[in-house]
Amino acid sequence: RLGKRLRAIADLVADGARIADIGSDHAKLLIFLVETGKVSYAVAGEVARGPYEISLKNTKDIPEITVRLANGLFAIEEADVINTIVIAGMGGILISEILEARKEFTTKVKHLILQPNNEEAAVRFWLMKNGFKLVNEQILEDRGKIYEIIVAEAGDMLLNEDEMKFGIFLNKHEIFKKKWSQRLSEINYVLSVLPESQETEKQKIIAEKNQIERFIK
Ligand code: SAM
Repeated sequence: RLGKRLRAIADLVADGARIADIGSDHAKLLIFLVETGKVSYAVAGEVARGPYEISLKNTKDIPEITVRLANGLFAIEEADVINTIVIAGMGGILISEILEARKEFTTKVKHLILQPNNEEAAVRFWLMKNGFKLVNEQILEDRGKIYEIIVAEAGDMLLNEDEMKFGIFLNKHEIFKKKWSQRLSEINYVLSVLPESQETEKQKIIAEKNQIERFIK
């Protein structure tokens, strides 16, 4: 059974997608998508041998899923005709680096479904700079942690600083308010313990605090 986070990602995959899940761990998402009949061609890419071997074992009776040991998007071959890439459960900077490392390929893909664990702004920035526009975003809480899922398609968009940080589809959501109130509490705590000598760090955090307060009011 999938947890709430992976289930939300599964729900965003279009019926019949040819999908690659990069950093697929034990291939749970793809197994679910094939077993529920949503997808009939899938590539699981993993850079680490341990999870790769477990994925091979988990999918040995599922011909629809090909498991490859590879760094990032190098798990995908032209002949796969992949139209949907999922990259989930990693930091936003790493996700942007993975997209950047095979840019000529990434920019031809129809749907990107990205779930950064942090630094969502870095992901939106990469998308904006590389010919993608946001078509959907979700925010959810799963086992006490809050996650954002970003869905993009080919197209142009121009995001300002706030849109980069907060997204464009999320701000009415209860969990969105919770996320940024939690961040404000964290910031206030950090400011209360930060020594005077850390002036630059302090200014950075105060700038973030002002941005959040301005936005969520
Ligand atoms: N995608 C799954 C999920 O969302 O539940 C697994 C997330 S797990 C925390 C991150 C996985 O990404 C790990 O299995 C790790 O080995 C893999 N990974 C990290 N960097 C990678 C890269 N450059 N290429 C492929 N896989 C990578």
